[in-house]
Order: sequence, then C-alpha cells, then structure tokens
Amino acid sequence: MTTLEFPVAGEWTAGTDTREIRSPFDDSVVAEVPSFTAADVDRAVAVARRALADQPLAAHERAAILDRAAVLLSERADGIARDLAAEAAKPLGQARLEVQRAVSTLQFCAAEARTFTGDLVPMDAAAAGVDHLGMVLRVPVGVVGAITPFNFPLNLVAHKLGPAIAAGCPVVTKPASQTPVSALNLARVLYDAGLPLAYLSVVPGPGAVIGDALVHNDDVALISFTGSPAVGWDIRAAAPRKRVGLELGNNSPLIVCADGDWRAVAKAVRLAGFSHAGQSCISTQRILVAESIKDEFVAELVAQVASLVVGDPLAEATEVSALITRAETERVAAWVDAAVAGGATVATGGDRTPEGHLRPTVLVDARPDDDVCATEIFGPVVVVRSFTDVRAAVAEANDSRYGLQAAIFTQDIDTAMWAARSLDFGGVLVNEVPTWRADHMPYGGLRDSGNTREGPGWTIREMTEERLVVIKTGVAPR
Ligand code: NAP
Repeated sequence: MTTLEFPVAGEWTAGTDTREIRSPFDDSVVAEVPSFTAADVDRAVAVARRALADQPLAAHERAAILDRAAVLLSERADGIARDLAAEAAKPLGQARLEVQRAVSTLQFCAAEARTFTGDLVPMDAAAAGVDHLGMVLRVPVGVVGAITPFNFPLNLVAHKLGPAIAAGCPVVTKPASQTPVSALNLARVLYDAGLPLAYLSVVPGPGAVIGDALVHNDDVALISFTGSPAVGWDIRAAAPRKRVGLELGNNSPLIVCADGDWRAVAKAVRLAGFSHAGQSCISTQRILVAESIKDEFVAELVAQVASLVVGDPLAEATEVSALITRAETERVAAWVDAAVAGGATVATGGDRTPEGHLRPTVLVDARPDDDVCATEIFGPVVVVRSFTDVRAAVAEANDSRYGLQAAIFTQDIDTAMWAARSLDFGGVLVNEVPTWRADHMPYGGLRDSGNTREGPGWTIREMTEERLVVIKTGVAPR
C-alpha cells in the first residue's frame, strides 16, 4: 500500500514515519499515512502566517473557492463516503449523508464570505465625535489551528476550514488519528477549487504531539477544537492568551409528555440514538417519558431498535457498525453491566454480534447517577426513565454537567415554551429529537459541553478580529 501524501507547510509530503489506519470493524488496513512531528507543525504555521501577509484573498476569491469546492465534493461524494465509512466504521448511508452535509456547510460558508461585514459607529452621538466617521472592520484573526474528532471526520473539518477560508484565515488542521483520510479528501477538494497550498496544512499524528504543538505555538491565533470535554478544557487552560472555541460532548435528554407523539419519537430514536453506533455528540441518550405512556412507548421503541441491521459499514444495508476501538466497546459494555447490576432492565440488546460488536441496547430504569445516564455514553445505548410531573423531568434533564441540546415532545404550546425557557442547554428542540442539527444554525453548549457556537455565520465572526477605524472628516464648508 502506498503511503498517502499530505499537504504540510506548502508542499505535498509522505513524511518519514508511516502508520497504518485499520478498520474498526474488521481490523483490515484501510490506509497508510505519514506521522508528523511538532517541528512539522511549526513549519506549517510559519508558512500559513506568511500566506496571510503575502497572499491575502479577496472576499470574491474566497467565496468562489468555497462554491467550487462544494461542487467538487458533490461530484466526488461516493468515493469520499467510502473512505469515510472504511476509516470510521460509519455505515455507508450515514457516511453519504455526512458528505452531503459537508457540501451544504461549504455552500453556507461561501454565502457568508460574500456577505459578512462590519459596523458603522455613530461617532457624533458624543460631542467629541462630531466630524468623525467611525467603522468597525472585521479582519482575519490570524492562523487558525483546527483540532477535530473521529465521529464526523469530514463535516466537522468542513465546519472549521470553511469558515476560516471565508474569513481569510490560513489553517493548520490536525484530524483525529483514526480518521485522517477524510480530512485529506476535503483538503484535496479545496486545493482543486483554487485554494493556495500555503493556506492549509493537514498534519496527522497523535493529539499529545501534533495537537499540543498547535496549542503551544504563539503564532496560532485561535484554536477551534471539537472533541471530548477532558481534552478540550485542558487546551483552554493551556492557552489562556489564545481564542479557544470548544465544541464538546453531551448526554442528550429527550422528554416525551403524555400528549407528545411518542410513536414518532420511537421511530426517530432508531437513528437519533444509534446512528454511527451512538457516537455523536448529540446522540439521544436519556429518554424521560410520561409514566402513563411508558409501557406502550418502550414496546414501540424496542420494536424499532431491534430491527436495526448491525454489520459491515461498507454493506449497503448496515445501520449500526463497530465502535471506534475495542477499548470503547469494552467501556460501554461495562457501563451497561454496571447499570444492570444497579437495577436497570435490558429491554433489547445488551449482547454482542458474533464479531464482538455491541448490539443496539435499550435500558429501562437505570439510576440518574449510573454512568449510562450521568456521563456521555458515546455508544449504541439509550436509557428510558419515567416521570409524573414535567417539572421533575426538566429538573432531571438539567441535572447534568453537559448542556449542548435537549428536546421535548408535547402538543401543549404553554408546556413547550415553558420548557424551552427552562431547559438549560445551548439548544432546545420542540417536537424534534435533540440529535437534530442543520449546518447553518448556531450549535454549541454550556457547562462541560463547550464555550462557543459553531455554524458558518457564527464561526466566521469568531475567526475575525474587530478593528475600529476612525477618520476625522473635518469641518463642512460654510
Ligand atoms: P478526543 O479524544 O477529545 O479527540 C479530539 C481531537 O483532539 C483528536 O484529534 C485528538 O487526537 C485530539 N487530542 C487528543 N489529545 C490532545 C491533546 N493533548 N492536545 C491536543 N489535541 C489532542 O475526542 P474524540 O474521541 O475524537 O471525539 C469524541 C468526543 O467529541 C465526544 O465527547 C463528542 O461528544 C465530542 N464531539 C463534540 C461535537 C460538538 O460539535 N459539540 C461534535 C463531535 C464530537 P487523537 O485522535 O490523536 O487522539
């Protein structure tokens, strides 16, 4: 197998050290990639910094690159989805959806590149400001360092590269060690669309080496990080003088009131709780259902979940495949076992396929402080608990160290609006699962879930600096 070349510091290179990427499903080798060093990161940042000074791109050029990239990504969708499915064990249908989402992310970034703007300041609102013109320009913040997770290895890279390009910032990106090929595919699309090579480096390698070098490089103005709270908040602490945007995890609650469309919920959770084997930051995890409809709801949910097809991510019919590592499989299984030992019931699943992968699992009546409720499970497991008072359900949903997205199903507008105000999360969904996301909305969380909002319009503003310009206009002729 030929080692893939990566764009680092303005040139394509296969490095000196190589590493195999193996399928999480069957351990077969899916790619051979270089492993870079901290010195490579520093070279990439230096080249990016020079590009910003010497090769600034006008807004129409940035927008055109992003528009062309969206078209190329769409044309190459099938091959890129296959690479994604192979390296991340994301079922092919879900990988294809991710590619389509990345196309839309790039399109939104192109639109923002054409339209985002600064402000005028009414200087003569102060006596001293008469005869002065004030404006706030938005200028690129500098070199962006992007660190991304394995679970959306294409679209979450697009959510960083797209806004950076739209804002005029060069980027050095470090993809997750398991999924560098998807990031490489996106970079190829951007170069083929006209992005100068110096504007983007993709540097694979271990987080503790490559990620750490980005975080500690003084010429990186902003770190845009998506991943686990433990790593994210350590980065925030290690870089107090940088802008650090954190998009982290959740243990998403979904409240189903007695008047809510619980059949629709059961159907939606089939994917909302189990897409990519639950490895989504907003995977539905804690389902709080009104006691009066609990039994019917659980029966319907079990029928839905038990019909999920588990298998090879590259097989068309597969809906759930392997977790990213065997160690993660063991962790999730241990959490399920602990919940069962504490009194929870397994309504379906709880066992493994002949290849050793977890089957989609519904647990009923785990305790709130069991790991399966209290901590992000990031596996193919949902937990059902019941309530008799919706206020108690909202309190239970809020009793979490995470705060990304929450949802409620009800037909009562007063309950819906009260819950929207009372659920202490970055996003509240009404009559939609907490796993729902469109790529142009402001997406992000509170508490352990992060400190920012991602979505092209919001990210571009974070990736620009406000520069006040005041012009003394002089006195008008008399
Ligand atoms: P992770 O282990 O935190 O890794 C994320 C990235 O950080 C990877 O590229 C990783 O590199 C790198 N990294 C690890 N240690 C580092 C260090 N010391 N310094 C700098 N970078 C370092 O997360 P993951 O397992 O890939 O992803 C799962 C998590 O991401 C979940 O918690 C999920 O909820 C969260 N997530 C959040 C969102 C959101 O938008 N809010 C979206 C998707 C995922 P290596 O791969 O080399 O370790």
